[in-house]
Amino acid sequence: MMSVDPLVPMETAGRLERLRARFDALECDGLLVTHLTNVRYLTGFTGSAGMLLVGPDLALLVTDGRYGSQAPEQVLSSGAPVEVAVTGDRQKEAVSGSMTGITRLGLEAANVTWAAHRRYESDWFEVPLVATEGAVEQLRIEKDPGEIDRMRRAGAIADAALASVRPMLNERPTEQVFGRALDAAMRELGADGPSFETIVASGPNGARPHHRPSERTIESGDLVVLDFGARVHGYCSDMSRTVSVGACSEVQSRMLAVVLDSQAQGVDAIAAGVDAATVDRACRDVIDSAGWGDAFVHGTGHGVGLDVHEAPRVAKTSGDTLAAGHVVTVEPGVYLPDHGGVRIEDMLVVTDRGCEPLTLTSKLTSVV
Ligand code: ZN
Ligand code: ZN
Repeated sequence: MMSVDPLVPMETAGRLERLRARFDALECDGLLVTHLTNVRYLTGFTGSAGMLLVGPDLALLVTDGRYGSQAPEQVLSSGAPVEVAVTGDRQKEAVSGSMTGITRLGLEAANVTWAAHRRYESDWFEVPLVATEGAVEQLRIEKDPGEIDRMRRAGAIADAALASVRPMLNERPTEQVFGRALDAAMRELGADGPSFETIVASGPNGARPHHRPSERTIESGDLVVLDFGARVHGYCSDMSRTVSVGACSEVQSRMLAVVLDSQAQGVDAIAAGVDAATVDRACRDVIDSAGWGDAFVHGTGHGVGLDVHEAPRVAKTSGDTLAAGHVVTVEPGVYLPDHGGVRIEDMLVVTDRGCEPLTLTSKLTSVV
């Protein structure tokens, strides 16, 4: 374990009221939360099956016997005012019997299958069903201090893990061997696990932004894109660094300098009240001026939280505006098949005046 400092408590108890405050805008007076990440956010429950009915006065978490002791314990320790019903195959009765005060029930449209919708409409509920989008996700955008603390720890674990395995790059490991070492180091340091499948993309593989670690041996002269993160109590970190193994070519040096500058300009542009598209523009301008606009083939960044990719979007076409408490990445890249790839990414918490990085690994590109 890396740190025994207690984590700042999360404000889980107040989240249901924040959700209810959105009911008018969502044109419903109840919501059936079926997306498990959202159930976790609202109740603290981490099981792999369950649903949460939120009405004007009552919130009911329904799960099955496997979670008979876990669900009540987690709900209790989160402080969320939620009742728990442990049912076998009687979910429907538990949910439809708790509809007091609900005249229009919202469903999470992005998470309900057509089959489930038909079942809910014909069999479960007598009130009209309303499609909602982003009902809970909108709440999740703004992190409370407890959430930020978990993400800060996840960032610190990723930093320490990379520092511990970085010298291995001089020993010509394969991408897979290096990736596995990085993952093991994060677990060793107290992570729940990696927050997504670690990317180790060396040499020509680096020109593919979402390359999966292969059996390719990392060679001298390679740029190696490392994109990875740790998960702590469900909260993710996300960071990319590009390391140059051995000497790099003139073009590679220029790629590194351009992306470094682009990333710094993006970070500088961040503050509460700034449009996310403006941050994207700040990064893109530097790469455009270098003549590599076409080689920056993805958006600049994304929100991070319980999911590694969540709102807001930091992209040319984003309509999102940053606010204090948002956690976003800034990760420009340049990908040239003949030279490899460079991506540099930090995860930052937006503040009124700017931002504070939660990923602190040096951007120096040498192995050690
Ligand atoms: Zn990343
Ligand atoms: Zn990212």
